[in-house]
Amino acid sequence: MKIGIDFDDTLNDYRSLLKDLVSERHDKKLKSGETLASTIGKEISENLVKEVLETDLSLRLAPRQHSVEVMQRLIKDGHEFIVLTARYDREIHHIDEWLSKHGLQANVYPTNREDKGPIAEELGLAFHLDDMISQINTFTTDHHTIPVLIAGGWMPTSLAGGDSTSSRVSDHVRKVEGWLEFESLINTAA
Ligand SMILES: [Mg+2]
Repeated sequence: MKIGIDFDDTLNDYRSLLKDLVSERHDKKLKSGETLASTIGKEISENLVKEVLETDLSLRLAPRQHSVEVMQRLIKDGHEFIVLTARYDREIHHIDEWLSKHGLQANVYPTNREDKGPIAEELGLAFHLDDMISQINTFTTDHHTIPVLIAGGWMPTSLAGGDSTSSRVSDHVRKVEGWLEFESLINTAA
């Protein structure tokens, strides 16, 4: 099957890198539920996010728990992965390098902050895994792609697309706690 996955905070642990950088560079603590801007100031926060997305600081992003092993197993079973990210074109230069560093093969498709639902349909994705409710809600019931929401919780910055104020998920959305549960879902459907 062709499987779409989001990059930041789905395949990688974006939030932990922000926490580490806030601590290393500003000697402050990014607390759960708070935004990066309220912790280190709006301008510094915007520059930091830009640096994480556009420079090789992206390579410091750690994989989210179990993501690499699950992806490797599913690739070995013949599934094809597409990293469907809301990042802009200029923000994906280091994703290929990140993938090879972790022994993963996938094509990268940046939506440039556009809604992922219609693009996933065009790409013929069977599933799409994402941590953003606003993006998950751009997958409508007339689409063939099954949207899967991975548990995330609070997000200190917005990398959205879709309606960023939405908090309710549609009934056709599947929910998983993490990558191992996503693997079972794929294996059951395959
Ligand atoms: Mg994300």
